[in-house]
Amino acid sequence: MLDDLNHGIDWQALDAAHHFHPFTDHKELHEQGVRLITSAEGVYLHDSNGNKIMDGMAGLWCVAAGYGRQDLVEAATKQMSKLAYYNTFFKTTNEPAVLLAQKISQIAPEGFEHVFFACSGSEAVDSALRTARVYWQTLGKPEKKIIIGREYGYHGSTTLGASAGGMKDMHRQGGDMPNFVQVLPPYWYGKGGQMSPEEFGLYAAKEVEKKILELGAENVAAFIGEPIQGAGGVLIPPETYWPEINRICKQYDILLIADEVICGYGRTGKWFGTDYFGIKPDMMTTAKGLTSGYLPLSAMLMNNRVADVLINETGEYYHGFTYSGHPVSCAVALKNLEILENEKLVEGATAKGALLREKLNEAVGDLPIVGEVRGVGLIGAIELTADKRTRKFFEKNGRVGAICRDHCIRNGLMMRATRDTMLFSPPLTITEAEIELFAAMAKKAFEATYADVR
Ligand code: PLP
Repeated sequence: MLDDLNHGIDWQALDAAHHFHPFTDHKELHEQGVRLITSAEGVYLHDSNGNKIMDGMAGLWCVAAGYGRQDLVEAATKQMSKLAYYNTFFKTTNEPAVLLAQKISQIAPEGFEHVFFACSGSEAVDSALRTARVYWQTLGKPEKKIIIGREYGYHGSTTLGASAGGMKDMHRQGGDMPNFVQVLPPYWYGKGGQMSPEEFGLYAAKEVEKKILELGAENVAAFIGEPIQGAGGVLIPPETYWPEINRICKQYDILLIADEVICGYGRTGKWFGTDYFGIKPDMMTTAKGLTSGYLPLSAMLMNNRVADVLINETGEYYHGFTYSGHPVSCAVALKNLEILENEKLVEGATAKGALLREKLNEAVGDLPIVGEVRGVGLIGAIELTADKRTRKFFEKNGRVGAICRDHCIRNGLMMRATRDTMLFSPPLTITEAEIELFAAMAKKAFEATYADVR
């Protein structure tokens, strides 16, 4: 149908006239034009200029099972024909929502038996933040309200999510609700100075403790953190960090929320980043890889400590979304999780990620502008640096990253830049041959970047 309509449309003009984009400088967009993605299969995107681009980001970290999967299309159409929609408010449910809640609780860490559905990662986060406050209110401690997050944290774009995150530009634009604070992120490469990664991991965790003592534990509801800070630059905490955070949250009776929106469903080579790092959360927020992005769906998981209070003591929780437990999204998620299991994509991410980092190190590691190639499973980053030895950043942070990203796309590889850190997170279906090609394209793009900035 769309194909029939395609001819003669000036997509650039029409998009510019009516489409307001997320996270976009529209003046710049109108000057430079928009990239029209028309189709995709496997790890490849196609645009309206006839370019075939390897998607090194799996969309926005979400297309775990790869593009163009007919099994997911069939799961959606089958459910859509049977029951396209009904809500889960007011003591109603549907089959896919029940089965999916069960499935998620089976793959989640022990003690996570209850799942709340929403549409986006932001809504899952918003739900967890609200739930943390409701939990303490129910227990007679309504003053426990403050949420501690981290600089460079990203927890979505609702007003609460933006306030919990550590993106200053988002705070400046209305994402600055009261009772949210941020502390130092466990970003050793950028902030570790002369400390060893292990020392810095402990140091960064103790910053949380310091903040709790400053605010008074009796005023703090929760600490929220991504197991690996994704949008902030794929910041992988040193191994000393999360065990210390576990200890601190337990000691001061602070709820721990793991924002697994990127890490969840296999990206780290485990089902959850929580499994990889041994985090002991009370709530987990998940989305993205749950449906591989084929339909919008998120899930907020509660452990029994939280769920028992919400279920047995709170009474009615005045919270929910029209599309909570959407039957078609849930049916697609069930099929998607089956694919991740049957094709061993979760455990496969460990070896594939190691191979990708090895190939990237061979391809670009010796360039003077490359400071570090890091990753866990199939999520990773390459630091661009003005001085390899001292880990010095370029002046006008973000300029070189943008140059590199443009070279990557020109060479057929979609990567993303945060500041001067290049990020990657390809579909978990990526093959060895595609990994070789990924590295070869990165080599050309990074060499061209070096030629531009040397
Ligand atoms: N939390 C994390 C860790 C994310 O990376 C994101 C999105 O990238 C979100 C929350 C928000 O998810 P959504 O864009 O689906 O609202």
